[in-house]
Amino acid sequence: MKKSELKKYAHAIAKVGANVQKGQYVKVFANVDQELLVSYVVADCYKLGAKKVAVEWGSDLLDVVNYKKASVKALSEVPEWRLKKAQYEVDTNPVMIYIESSDPDALGSVDAKKINAVSKIVRPIMKPFRDQRENKYQWVIVGAASPAWAKKVFPELPKSKATEKLWEAILYTARCNGDPIKNWDEHNKDLIKRTNFLNSLDIDFLQYHAGNGTDFKVWLNSKVNWLAGGETALGSNIYYNPNMPTEECFTSPIKGKAEGIVYASKPLSYQGQLIENFSITFKDGKAVDCHAEKNEALLREMIASDENSGYLGEVALVPHDSPISNSNILFYNTLYDENAACHLALGIGFTNLVKGYENYTQQELFDMGINNSTIHVDFMIGTSDMDIVAHLRDGGTVQIFKKGNWAF
Ligand code: ZN
Repeated sequence: MKKSELKKYAHAIAKVGANVQKGQYVKVFANVDQELLVSYVVADCYKLGAKKVAVEWGSDLLDVVNYKKASVKALSEVPEWRLKKAQYEVDTNPVMIYIESSDPDALGSVDAKKINAVSKIVRPIMKPFRDQRENKYQWVIVGAASPAWAKKVFPELPKSKATEKLWEAILYTARCNGDPIKNWDEHNKDLIKRTNFLNSLDIDFLQYHAGNGTDFKVWLNSKVNWLAGGETALGSNIYYNPNMPTEECFTSPIKGKAEGIVYASKPLSYQGQLIENFSITFKDGKAVDCHAEKNEALLREMIASDENSGYLGEVALVPHDSPISNSNILFYNTLYDENAACHLALGIGFTNLVKGYENYTQQELFDMGINNSTIHVDFMIGTSDMDIVAHLRDGGTVQIFKKGNWAF
């Protein structure tokens, strides 16, 4: 990838995505294979006036070694300094920039039970710190091409060609061709039109049908909005774009009200392993059964992460004709694949979708029917023949999706 292109991407990440402001702390999370991009992002944050930018490095290879060699007890230890660090983040409220370049199957050789056992202990310890910052900070997740990920996406190409091709796809889907700032402005305007329409409908429940067997209903809360594109941080009122790319209009359903079966239309990379060809059955809003051709045990572990992880936190609509899905690339990465297909998420919902959410505590928002969990995992169910009908509270119906695309 040309340095000038990478610099443009870095600027889009810092400006359009995170929208870093003068005097802010920034934290960047990235793998060690992304030193160049990270250096550009950090430089751009400073150009925008950041006070201090810290980087936390990760490594797929080290994760594999640690998971294989260390005990669950050692891996799940949360020393005092980590709690202090989390508290420091609550106090300084840094902007968070997550750069993903991991091999989607990096931990494929590690015992999934061990990974899950560790996160089951660590997540609840760290959750109160996250809850304190919820909705109050700017953040963005973006992708970056690593040779290992690229090889998974384009197995037929040599590593360097595959990496180049994945970079092109990343920059294209992040709307970095031409002027990213102008592109995102237009894109957000378009998404807002759709959410305004969805919000005007007063939908009681959505009914899904697809030829692969998906037959599913999910109920929505009249107090909860649809949202798309950019969001605004509480307190500072700074507008940022948390996902680059993003194509979805999404909401949080009522906890406990969903019925039927959904079939996944894409593989799911979860905790560094791939779950493939799976279905989930819902009763009274809860995932009560599931099947997967690959990694069913991991899927079951995920659903049983905590008492609410079997309930839905998100319902998202993405047309089959989105730029990402038209690229016909299976990224094996949720940030990209979720923006190529309608999806659902198990786990915590979005409290900032409740109308007037700034006037309530987090707990009050959960009590209104937004699911609260230690996980939030998107999985893709959209197909080219998916029909979705909205049943309105006044008794009428509106076709939302016809043959995989917006019907309005
Ligand atoms: Zn989503």
